[in-house]
Amino acid sequence: MTLPDLFFDPSKCLIGGTWQPALSGDTLALTNPSDGSPLATIARGTKADIDAAVAAAQAARNSDWGRATAVERGRILTRIGQLVMEHAETLARLEAQDVGKPLTQARNDVTALARYMEFYGGAADKVHGETIPYLEGYTVYTLREPFGVTGHIVPWNYPMQIIGRSVGAALAMGNACVLKPAEEACLTALAFAHLAQQAGLPDGALNVVPGLGPEAGAALAAHPDVNHISFTGSVNTGRLVQTAAAENVVPVTLELGGKSPQLVFADADLDTALPFLVNAGIQNAGQTCSASSRILVERSVYEEVKSRMSAAYKAMRAAPAMEDATLGPLISARQKDIVSDFLTKGADLTIAAQGEIATHAPGHYVPPTLFADVPPDHPLAQEEIFGPVQVLIPFDSEEEALQIANSTRYGLVASVWSQNGARQMRLAKQLNAGQVFLNNYGAGGGVELPFGGTGHSGHGREKGFEALFHFSQLKTVAALHG
Ligand code: NAD
Repeated sequence: MTLPDLFFDPSKCLIGGTWQPALSGDTLALTNPSDGSPLATIARGTKADIDAAVAAAQAARNSDWGRATAVERGRILTRIGQLVMEHAETLARLEAQDVGKPLTQARNDVTALARYMEFYGGAADKVHGETIPYLEGYTVYTLREPFGVTGHIVPWNYPMQIIGRSVGAALAMGNACVLKPAEEACLTALAFAHLAQQAGLPDGALNVVPGLGPEAGAALAAHPDVNHISFTGSVNTGRLVQTAAAENVVPVTLELGGKSPQLVFADADLDTALPFLVNAGIQNAGQTCSASSRILVERSVYEEVKSRMSAAYKAMRAAPAMEDATLGPLISARQKDIVSDFLTKGADLTIAAQGEIATHAPGHYVPPTLFADVPPDHPLAQEEIFGPVQVLIPFDSEEEALQIANSTRYGLVASVWSQNGARQMRLAKQLNAGQVFLNNYGAGGGVELPFGGTGHSGHGREKGFEALFHFSQLKTVAALHG
């Protein structure tokens, strides 16, 4: 499988508007998870490159980018979105081959990236302070200001979407960004930075340093001149990033994992629910933070849901990304080992159905697997698997469903399938999640919808207008004029 013609050199970092190799000269190899073939050589950035990138970002804040008006920032973001759509098919093919996700899903990610640019481009000049009534003789108002330099550490599963939501919002507010993409998949991060340059983003407003987490990532998290960190990834790494940022008293947004439940009641419209129940767990081979990996079903419809989901699983094919099957491979041998270990841990459980691995390509494939009758405290019902695995759990009452739903350390997304409006409202309040969907499930979708977790799913919010408040800080001005 070959890459589409690249309009950029993937072996370089972008620092202060200049594409350059890592200062050490070291590189890393990207492989195609669909077949293990070499894909590209990327820079192995380290602390020295991060130092240079942060200095370039600071310089940008003190020059053209720092002086740009909100309207000008918005126009640049909008132009980036237009260029993303002009290169849509190239970006989709890059993402599909780098991440191993089916081409149709990669195309959706491109559309989302463009939409983030459009949304934050349009929003840039609509964030403002307020006046506050105060003592006699005073005028008090607030200003919304950028943090300065923002650090963005992103994972490999949705590079374009996560860059769109975090870098898009940070730039809209006038921050200068240092982006550390994941070492497993970073081609679209580099492509995006090229398009941003072409769209007129001033030098240093966006810097990109690929590299390993414990090298480039850790250096960015610990940098004393970074003023805000947005981290998306695992709980363990999030803890390290937050600890490092705490040393510099820097605010952190953590978007971590999940074990998101869907609650299916006997009065649910099952025809509508079925595709959401399955796709929300299988999209991107289950490597989605907001994947719905727990399906809780009221006992009177449990057998019907099990049999219909099983039929969907039996029709699933795992195949190379460019074959555009239901799912592709997992990102890496490591991720395949993690998921395989969970399948072994489930040896005492009942497998309701499995899909087919429909390729002999030497990629990191696992069969999509649906487990039935899983005890709510079983590791497969408690721990994030990050693979194409869902568990079915029966329940007998709304109280029991709620108790099971809220029984993990996570709280990212939940959904309720029921025609009972009062129940929908009750559960929307009681479910422990940053997003609750009623009679739908929006895994990752919705540029406009604030997103983020509770508990071990993280804190802070990205996406939607809300993100603009998280990428800016408030200054209060109090004038005594008599
Ligand atoms: P990870 O934490 O290993 O890596 C994420 C990023 O952190 C990568 O860029 C990596 O290089 C970097 N990193 C690794 N070690 C670091 C360190 N010591 N200091 C600083 N940076 C470091 O996560 P992963 O395994 O690549 O991604 C999967 C996890 O991410 C899952 O748990 C998933 O749920 C979560 N995730 C969450 C969201 C969300 O929005 N909530 C989205 C996607 C993925």
